[in-house]
Amino acid sequence: MKDCIVVGAGVSGLVTARELVRRGHAVTVLEAQDRVGGRTLSVSFDGRRLDIGGQWIGPRQKHIAELVRELGLGTFPQHHAGSKLLARGEDTFRYGGVFALPRVSPWAMLDLFVARRRLHRGLARLDPRRPWASPDARAWDAITLEAWMNENVRTKDARFLLSNIARAVLAAEPDEVSFLFFLDFLRRGGTLDETAGIAGGAQETRIIEGMQTVSERMASALPEPVHLGEPVRAIRQRDRAVEVVTDRETYAGRFVAISVPPALAARIDYSVPLGRERQRLMDQLPMGSVIKFLVQYETPFWRQAGLSGEAASDRGTILMTMDATSSDGGVAALVAFSLGTSGRHWAKRTADERKRAVLAELAHLFGPKAARPVRFEEKVWVDDPWSGGCYCAVPGPGALTAFGDALRATCGRIHWAGCETAFQWPGVDGAVESGKRAAQEVHARLAIERSHTTEVRA
Ligand SMILES: Cc1cc2nc3c(=O)[nH]c(=O)nc-3n(C[C@H](O)[C@H](O)[C@H](O)COP(=O)(O)OP(=O)(O)OC[C@H]3O[C@@H](n4cnc5c(N)ncnc54)[C@H](O)[C@@H]3O)c2cc1C
Repeated sequence: MKDCIVVGAGVSGLVTARELVRRGHAVTVLEAQDRVGGRTLSVSFDGRRLDIGGQWIGPRQKHIAELVRELGLGTFPQHHAGSKLLARGEDTFRYGGVFALPRVSPWAMLDLFVARRRLHRGLARLDPRRPWASPDARAWDAITLEAWMNENVRTKDARFLLSNIARAVLAAEPDEVSFLFFLDFLRRGGTLDETAGIAGGAQETRIIEGMQTVSERMASALPEPVHLGEPVRAIRQRDRAVEVVTDRETYAGRFVAISVPPALAARIDYSVPLGRERQRLMDQLPMGSVIKFLVQYETPFWRQAGLSGEAASDRGTILMTMDATSSDGGVAALVAFSLGTSGRHWAKRTADERKRAVLAELAHLFGPKAARPVRFEEKVWVDDPWSGGCYCAVPGPGALTAFGDALRATCGRIHWAGCETAFQWPGVDGAVESGKRAAQEVHARLAIERSHTTEVRA
């Protein structure tokens, strides 16, 4: 019997396994897909790997930074020199440098400034361990971000800019997410500017070898290879053990650590009910909606035109783009995102329709050269059966205050990892943080059980 069975070989599951192995425990990792990495996925372009899943890390994200160093991977700054673009309808504005923000009216800028101050005052009052238990949590969790903006943001332009930021960082619509969740998301990122920003923000740094390499290196260092292609279907809890059932085999362990998003954990059959709160939590944490596109070109022609590659658009195909050129400049590329409603809309279209629409939009933003890529890649995360959508879970109103405490609460011999259970940044950094916590919990319980066994023997 193993000390722990880990469900899922994304970053959090592999960190859980790695930390337990470091402490001398025997671990089996079961992964549904034929690869490790989960919501991180790096695609090879002329020998360099570019990210079509999780990609950036920021200066506050110490857990992933430390892991990247331990694994011997390199980092480089996200390219952002040059002007940015903002497309609204048929008009495209170029801004940056002396124009630090897109050209909107002074009233809208003032409005945005005031809204930002209100948001920062709100997030400073959140309990970082249990935001749902903060003094104003109930009122904030009773409304959506959209409802808060309707009350607090007066100008159309400021609402547009704030909505775009929310879509970009959550992959969800402002009328879908709880205002408490949005506020806590900003707290985890530091501030609004850090959450959405490049220099000094969560999009500051990339991994030279690609983010998926983090998982690949962890997996290859485990004493027992990850069991790929083995979706966990059922978990049976016994008196002093668990049985974890896949289509191929039943694995016995003392404990199990589940690292999959809550909405996917709901699909596993549990012999012992997990309790009403945990069940309702899993039912009420839908995932965001994103399609990510990588578009390779002969040259980074936008840089030559003084553009950074960063663009935002309200035209309904792609909401934002950035420069995705490889660290050595050998592969010139843009990355584009279809998010929220537009992500769901385009997920229903064919790959050809998506390609045509994305290239047309890139040409609208960056000029005719953008319509002639060398290579076009997409990943429709909206339809991905093993993440259920991305980037992460996006709770609607009411879920966190009602069931937030169930996020990390153990259920018998079941422990929970996964970026959704992190205290801090709910991305790759949170995945690492949660894996360390879950491993520590399992280690502590194994130590207690071993000491009991020793006492009984004595
Ligand atoms: C397009 C995109 C862009 C992103 N950008 C960023 C970014 O720039 N910065 C950032 O910090 N984060 C980003 N993220 C989010 C980040 O990738 C995730 O937060 C992180 O990778 C989650 O890791 P995890 O281990 O918690 O979960 P996952 O990666 O989802 O791992 C769970 C694993 O469990 C497996 N699994 C699921 N069900 C079962 C089952 N029943 N049995 C066995 N295995 C199962 C899955 O296949 C998966 O491998 C992005 C995500 C996407 C998709």
